[in-house]
Amino acid sequence: MYIPHRIFFEKDALEYSLGKKLIDRFQREGKAVKYTSSHNRVTLLPGDTPPKRFLEAKRTLVVGVRRTLTFAGCKPSAHYQLPLTTGCPGLCQYCYLHTTLGPRPYMRLYVNVNEILEQAAQYIQSRLPEETYFEGSATSDPLALEHYSGSLARTINFFSGMEKGFFRFATKQTYVKNLLKVKHNGKTQVRFSINTPKIVQDYEGGVPQVKERIRAALAMKKAGYPVGFLIAPVFIYEGWEKEYLNLLEEISSLWKANSSPGENNDTTFEIIAHRFTARAKKNILSVFPHSSLPLEEKERKFKYGQFGYGKYLYSPDIYQQMKELFLPTVPRLFPGGEVSYIV
Ligand code: SF4
Repeated sequence: MYIPHRIFFEKDALEYSLGKKLIDRFQREGKAVKYTSSHNRVTLLPGDTPPKRFLEAKRTLVVGVRRTLTFAGCKPSAHYQLPLTTGCPGLCQYCYLHTTLGPRPYMRLYVNVNEILEQAAQYIQSRLPEETYFEGSATSDPLALEHYSGSLARTINFFSGMEKGFFRFATKQTYVKNLLKVKHNGKTQVRFSINTPKIVQDYEGGVPQVKERIRAALAMKKAGYPVGFLIAPVFIYEGWEKEYLNLLEEISSLWKANSSPGENNDTTFEIIAHRFTARAKKNILSVFPHSSLPLEEKERKFKYGQFGYGKYLYSPDIYQQMKELFLPTVPRLFPGGEVSYIV
């Protein structure tokens, strides 16, 4: 469970009940709290090398107010992002946050949850009678701070009463205990991000093991939540097809052993192939100088993305191989389940 080594509060966070509750808690626990006028001013973290500074930034929590209440788009997983937190304590070398957060990978927790949810309600209203989907993990792993904030539980409860609004979030964390009893009405889908043993061993760090993530997925499934898996990023290496197949088979056996006859098994799989941006490559090699990540531009296909920067993708024939593996395997192993997309 994430425990910050240093904590900053934006002063106006104390005008919100969650801000007050958090500062009381940290003071009771004897944690030193500093104040900052803005998260942008959280600089001069300890560490004399980029890898050390990166690690210390991950250990830093900034409690603040979400000021931008215009939600960005979030294709292909949802219509809008829903920002409850920013950042993730994980140390995955391939992380997409190397592009979006760059040199500011510290954890940010927003206390104005009511304002964020009111904004979501307005978006839902503006799109009626269409359904509107919100993604809670576009720039964070929101479960990583749930033991402090309870914001996911509030959000899940909020969406349980929204006829045309749906919430989803993805995580590698496993602390789901507080979510199991929350009223959700099936309106929130949680997806657990998993990968093969080789990829976990070579490139992931600071996150629970895949077996624990699958156990947490099962607990959420038993609590009636729609559950899915994010296989991300898929890497192409010798034996990759066999290893991804083994992963799917492992989950499938567990699912079968824990399903009752007639139970709806609508497990979804989102398949995201590895990609990188020029900015991510620079940041990755600065904080993981010995990384063996495949980051050769000439072996990839360049494409402009929705946020204006280009990314290096696998070639179309590799995407074809991924389709041939995942598209028939998922419905075979998970009757009623589906591949939501392969990107
Ligand atoms: S768990 Fe996800 S968000 Fe966190 S570091 Fe790993 S890839 Fe990034």
